[in-house]
Amino acid sequence: MPKLLLKNALHIVTMADSALELGPGSWIACEDGVIVGVGGAGEIETMPFAEAEADEVLDLEGCVVMPGFINTHHHMYQTLTRVLGTESELFGWLKLLYGIWKEMLPSDVRTAVQTACAELLLTGCTTSADHHYVYPNGLTLDDVIDAALSTGIRFHAVRGAMSVGESKGGLPPDSCVETEEEILSDMKRVVEKYHDAKKHAMLRIVLGPCSPFSVTPDLMRSSARLARTYPKVHLHTHLAENQNDIDYSEATFARRPGEYAEWVEWTGRDVWFAHCVKLSDSELHSFAQWGCGVSHCPSSNLRLGSGVAPVRKMLDLGVTVGLGVDGSASNDGNHMLMEARMAMLAQRYIGEKNGITARETIRVATRGGAKVLGREDDLGQIAVGYSADIIGVKVTGKIEFAGALHDPVQAVLYCVGSGGVEYSVVGGRVVVNKGKLTTVDVEELAGRHAQCSKLLLERAGYAPGGTITA
Ligand SMILES: [Zn+2]
Repeated sequence: MPKLLLKNALHIVTMADSALELGPGSWIACEDGVIVGVGGAGEIETMPFAEAEADEVLDLEGCVVMPGFINTHHHMYQTLTRVLGTESELFGWLKLLYGIWKEMLPSDVRTAVQTACAELLLTGCTTSADHHYVYPNGLTLDDVIDAALSTGIRFHAVRGAMSVGESKGGLPPDSCVETEEEILSDMKRVVEKYHDAKKHAMLRIVLGPCSPFSVTPDLMRSSARLARTYPKVHLHTHLAENQNDIDYSEATFARRPGEYAEWVEWTGRDVWFAHCVKLSDSELHSFAQWGCGVSHCPSSNLRLGSGVAPVRKMLDLGVTVGLGVDGSASNDGNHMLMEARMAMLAQRYIGEKNGITARETIRVATRGGAKVLGREDDLGQIAVGYSADIIGVKVTGKIEFAGALHDPVQAVLYCVGSGGVEYSVVGGRVVVNKGKLTTVDVEELAGRHAQCSKLLLERAGYAPGGTITA
C-alpha cells in the first residue's frame, strides 16, 4: 500500500470538526489514498509511519495546506467557447452558443474536458462535478468521463439533458435536444456502467435534466424517481438564475422555482441546484428544511449580469452551500481559488456588512461542496479516515503574497493571482508537483484545444463580432 508523507507545511487548515489548524512544521500521513495521521511539528512521534518508510515525501515548506476544493457546478465542454456573447444576459447568451455547441465533435469535448480539469487541478480543485447536457454528433457521457479521469481528478459526472426545443416553447434549438425516452435509457445505462457508491469513490454519476426551461416537468419527475432507485445517485439542475428564469417559471408553470422543485419531487439532501440567485426568503427557508444544496457560482452570475446569490443569508439559515465555477463560457475560466475570492468579494458588494470570511469561504469550498455532493463522510476535511485530497499553496517567495504573510490563510484567498497551487494530491496521488501537472502535458493540450476551438467556430460559421452566418 503506497505511503505518502506531506511534511514541513507552513500552516494546515484541516477544516475538521475540531477546527484544528497547525503551524510551521506540521505534517499529513496518507496510506492507500486515505489520510492516516495529521500532526504538528511537536508530534512527529505520533506519525503512523516513519519518513524513511514512505514511498513518496513532499516537502511543503512555505505552503498553506487545505483540503482540496470541490467544484460543484461546471460545463467543461464550454472551454471551447470562451469570451463569446460577453454583452448578453443568460437567455441571449445561450441562444448564441447553442448554435455553436451543436457542431461539437466527441474529440473536441474530450479535449475541452481535459483542459477544464487541468486548470481546476492547477488552481486547487481536487473533485469536480460536470453537468453535461448537449450530445451532438455521437458524443456520449463516456467521452466526458474518460477525459476527466485521465487527468487524475475525482469526478461526479452529471448526465444532463435537454428535451424541450424551440418548436415546443423551450430555449434550445430542436437539433440540440433528445427524446425523453432516449434520455432516461441513457441515464440508466451510465449509472449501471459507472456509478461507484463506495466510500472514496473516484467516480459517481448524477442525473441532471438541464433546467426548467429546457425539459418537461415529467422528465424532472422520472429522473428523480430513477435516481432514487440507486444508492447515492444525486440530482442536479439549474434554478432561479436570473429574473427571466423566474418569469419563465411563473409564466409556464405558474410556480416560483421553490414551488416548481417541490412539484417535480426535487426536494431532499440528494438534490442540489446551481445559482439560486433569485430565491425568496421563504424559498431559502424551504431549502434549509428540505436539505437541498446550492452551488454558488459568483463569477458566472456577474459575467451574465444575473446578480449575486444571498450566500450570507443561506449560510445563516442553514442551507448547504458549495462553490462552483460554472461553465467556462460564462466565467470564462476554471480557476477555483479565484472563484473563492470572488465569492468573498461579491457578498460585500450586496451589502452584507461582514460578508463571508476567508475561513468560511474555504469551508464552503471544501466541506460545503462535500455535503452538496453527498460526500461529507469522505471528502472536504484533512482528518484521519478521509480521502487524501489535499492542496498546498506556496505563499513564501511569491510576489503576490508579499505583505500578507502575517495572516497566510487570508492571504491565500485575498491575494490569489493567476498562479495556482504548488501541490495537489487526489486520493493519495500527486497530480500537481511544484506547480506542474503530472498527468497531462499542459502545453500540448493548450495547443490542441486552441485548434479544436478554432475549427469549431469555423464549422458553426461564427463571425467575430457575434453572429452566426452558417
Ligand atoms: Zn450552469
